[in-house]
Amino acid sequence: MAFWGNKQEGESPQPGQQAAVQVTGTLEEGYEELVKAKGRAPAIDLAIKLSDMILEHAVRERASDVHIESQGPNLRVRFRVDGILQDMLNSPKNADIPLTQRIRVLAGFDPEPPTSFRNEEGRFQKMLAGRAIQVRVSSFPTVNGEKLVLRVLDRQQLGLDLDQVGLDQDALTLIKKLIRNPYGIFFITGSTGSGKTTSLYAMLKNINTPMINIITLEDPVEYRLEGINQAQISAKTGFTWAEGLRTILRQDPDVIMVGEIRDFDTAEISLRAALTGHLLFTTIHTINAPSIIERLFEMGVPPFLIGSSMLGAVSQRLVRKVCPKCAQNASAPSEPVVNEFVKNMDPDEARIVKELILKPGATYKVEKGCPECRNTGYMGRTGIFELMLMNEEIRKQILDHAPTDVIKRTAIKTGKMRTLLMDGILKARAGTTTLSEIIRVTATMV
Ligand SMILES: [Zn+2]
Repeated sequence: MAFWGNKQEGESPQPGQQAAVQVTGTLEEGYEELVKAKGRAPAIDLAIKLSDMILEHAVRERASDVHIESQGPNLRVRFRVDGILQDMLNSPKNADIPLTQRIRVLAGFDPEPPTSFRNEEGRFQKMLAGRAIQVRVSSFPTVNGEKLVLRVLDRQQLGLDLDQVGLDQDALTLIKKLIRNPYGIFFITGSTGSGKTTSLYAMLKNINTPMINIITLEDPVEYRLEGINQAQISAKTGFTWAEGLRTILRQDPDVIMVGEIRDFDTAEISLRAALTGHLLFTTIHTINAPSIIERLFEMGVPPFLIGSSMLGAVSQRLVRKVCPKCAQNASAPSEPVVNEFVKNMDPDEARIVKELILKPGATYKVEKGCPECRNTGYMGRTGIFELMLMNEEIRKQILDHAPTDVIKRTAIKTGKMRTLLMDGILKARAGTTTLSEIIRVTATMV
């Protein structure tokens, strides 16, 4: 096994060390070429070429994750592009091209998977498409063999520019003003993969100047931000969210980012810090912006603390943008269809949604599919947002311990809050995405 024994490679990546791989044609074709070269080149070279080729394709296709799976006698490679998995390779497995061992070594694992299950997580960095890309690797033993998932962390894709995340002009102006408050707490909510970490980073980057001390507590630290003090939570060593926060407060902070609030201690320290001259950003797990308040109630946070520290909240999701090369024009859905769609909504909300969909002047698109978008009809993603700003009415309802639906109704009525669905419909009206995509993404919330 001296062959694979070079663990250094995985642990201390040397960007620019390896020769660039020429990526032409499909991954399928590239794999066939390598299979043909079997016996003429050392197995290790073929495995290195194949893993490089997969990663180059992944970056080129803007994949966020690469799944390498053993499916009986087959090797299957899938990419997650714009949130959806796609088959890239499904061919007979080749024992002479030890792909998984190669990736295991890159990740800093032993070349062969452990005989009994052990949680394996590793990472490496590689020059791909001319830039350093970080790859996080996770291994999982299935009955068919090992499954590897590679998370591709491409900083360039991330952008981190608040103007680019998909906020419309009004919401952007409001948020830019809000994040310049000297104190208070601002919440972001959204499911995993909703882009909320990107938005948090974009906000920090937007306000970052040498004149303020910005400290973050994260788990994990996904990207390094210049000029910002980032710390990694470690439950093992006792550096928990609450402990980390107490430490941060002795570090003369102006702005604090708490990766996630999920318990009373962290919530209470955060909200109190927000009352005593600090500006905090954090994420919390709920399905929409108004339900953050109920979530804090459940944790045991007193209503007055929520009402006096909270600046507002944004909920977000990522939607796929319709492919500009092949999208086709579409007419608005008929009124009976819309009536059916809104029938279970709160009456006020139903009225607004119906008006938004049917109002003349929309340029609705419907997806088709072309080689450019790999026949999916979509290309790239953008955010949809639900921005709730604190006001007197909402504050009063918090003190009354009002449930989520009441707060939501008030936010729509008095705060002009646009729900995720409403914001999504506006993006569909503008032809950025399709109505079916908006319904797919917000379906669980209607
Ligand atoms: Zn297309």
